[in-house]
Amino acid sequence: MDCVRINPGNIGAWWKVEEVVKAVRERNVPLRIGVNGGSLERELLVKYGYPTAEALAESALNAVHALEDIGFTNMKVSLKASDVSLMVDAYRLFALQSDYPLHLGVTEAGTLLTGSIKSSIGIGLLLADGIGDTIRVSLAADPVEEVKVGFEILKALELRHRGINVIACPTCGRVEIDVVKLANEIEKRVGHIRVPLTVSVLGCVVNGIGEGKEADIGIAGGEGSGGHGILFKEGKLVRKVKSEELLETLLAEIEIMAKEREAGGSGDKGNGRGNGGAQGNASHVPSGSGKKEIPVLKV
Ligand code: SF4
Repeated sequence: MDCVRINPGNIGAWWKVEEVVKAVRERNVPLRIGVNGGSLERELLVKYGYPTAEALAESALNAVHALEDIGFTNMKVSLKASDVSLMVDAYRLFALQSDYPLHLGVTEAGTLLTGSIKSSIGIGLLLADGIGDTIRVSLAADPVEEVKVGFEILKALELRHRGINVIACPTCGRVEIDVVKLANEIEKRVGHIRVPLTVSVLGCVVNGIGEGKEADIGIAGGEGSGGHGILFKEGKLVRKVKSEELLETLLAEIEIMAKEREAGGSGDKGNGRGNGGAQGNASHVPSGSGKKEIPVLKV
């Protein structure tokens, strides 16, 4: 078990908290203080009128201090809300006043599209500020999608250097191939690769290599270029490829490149960001309470 979560707003009498603390102490399991807007203590609702960021932060701080008073410090904190601004402000306020590790999430974020956007903004803003140690994306969707979105957030912020990052041109009047279909197909078929590689799919040869020079490998164009597109690596033309063979050629080359990089030693690196709100504590706490809590990698 990674950790046990308690919500100070609805656990009730203090003796119940002490029982939980006793149990986790015996098992050396961390506790997560999970505050959320829907279950704030009554006195804080009276004080603030409604669940504000200040109320969430105060609730979490009260719980942290009460646990410290009984000598317990093996904990991390979450202050989730379904309102993105509220959630961001609450975490920021808490991080100003405490160094405990933070588990980030937008609760009840919504469906795959809406929830992914809300989670990306909320979690992304905080991580970009250096706040947060683990994340959880909560979607009204297949849990597999939650994990995928979480990893994409970390990849976009360059906190997780693992797996294939597929980039594709937005297409324009010059487009010669079905960029969207190709990019989706590539993403689907490279999910097993752990080595970090940026793969580019570009719609035309004219601007292809130029626009894809940030990528490790990519393809460009096709139908309108005499039935041929190009394969390029690190900004340089490798060879022309028949349109109908672009996809399979690229996939085969990605596998080769991934193996080469693997042999050369590649993987998660992190970028030195993250963890601003929890410096010095994160390493003491396992990453999260459930399978879908994704640790933010740091160097
Ligand atoms: S790569 Fe070609 S098709 Fe894609 S946006 Fe650029 S010019 Fe347009």
